[in-house]
Amino acid sequence: MQANPPGSQAEPPVLPGGPPKKVFVVTGPSGVGKGTLIRGLLERVPGLDLSVSATTRAPRPGEDDGVDYHFLTPEAFEQRAAAGDFVEHATYSGNRYGTLRAELERRAASGHGVVLEIEVQGARQVREAVPDAITVFIAPPSREALRARLVGRGTDALEQVDERMRTAERELEARGEFDHEVVNDRLEQATESLAEIVRQTLNTEPANLGGPEERTHP
Ligand code: ADP
Ligand code: 5GP
Repeated sequence: MQANPPGSQAEPPVLPGGPPKKVFVVTGPSGVGKGTLIRGLLERVPGLDLSVSATTRAPRPGEDDGVDYHFLTPEAFEQRAAAGDFVEHATYSGNRYGTLRAELERRAASGHGVVLEIEVQGARQVREAVPDAITVFIAPPSREALRARLVGRGTDALEQVDERMRTAERELEARGEFDHEVVNDRLEQATESLAEIVRQTLNTEPANLGGPEERTHP
C-alpha cells in the first residue's frame, strides 16, 4: 500500500491500524435471516469475527450490552457520531444503528475477517469507506415469507412488523447494488452459499463439522 505524500490532503484511512484481512457486509431486510445465517457462517468458517454494532434501541429480552449490541443513549450516539467514531451509521425504524470504528480496528488487529450485519443504508456507506469490503444481500423467497418470519420471531409488535415490511420494500429495490445475493429459502442451502462466498474470498478450507458440504480430502 502506498503512503500519502507529506502534506497531502488525503482523508485519513478508515482503519488507521491497517485494514482487516477482509470485511464482509451482510445486508438485507430485517427478518430475512441475516443473524441466523451469520451464526451458521461463523460455525463453518474459521477466522471470522462478528462486529458488535451500537444502537439506541432498547435491549430485547435476553440481549446483553457489549454482546448483542453496544446499547447507547440517543445523546451518547449523536456525540460519538459527531466525533467521527462510526464507520457508518443510519436511522432504522426510528432508532440509530452504527458500526464503531474502534470495533473494526480491534478485530482487524487480530487478523481475522470481520462480518458486519447491517441494513442497506449502512451497507452503502461501508462500500464507500472500505471499498474492498465484500457485500452480500440476503433476499427472502417472497414477501409473505419475510412477513411470516418477522411475526414468527416474536420480537416486534404488529405495527413494527408493518413498518419493517415497508422499509423492506425499499431495501429489496437495492438488491442489485451488492456483490452477491443469497436467497434465504432453505436455511441449510443458504448458509452454505454464504459460507462459500466467504471461503472463496478468504481462500480457506471448510471447517470440519461433519456436515454434508463439499470437502477437500487430503
Ligand atoms: P434478521 O437477522 O435478518 O433480522 P433473523 O436471523 O432474526 O433475521 O431471522 C428472523 C426469523 O426467521 C427467525 O425467527 C429465524 O429463526 C427465522 N428464519 C431464518 N432463516 C429462515 C429460513 N431459511 N426459513 C425459515 N425461517 C427462517
Ligand atoms: P434490529 O433492531 O432488528 O436488531 O435491527 C434492525 C436493523 O438494523 C437490521 O436490519 C440490522 O441488520 C440493522 N443493523 C444492526 N446493526 C447495524 C449497524 O451497525 N449499522 C446499520 N446501518 N444497521 C444495523
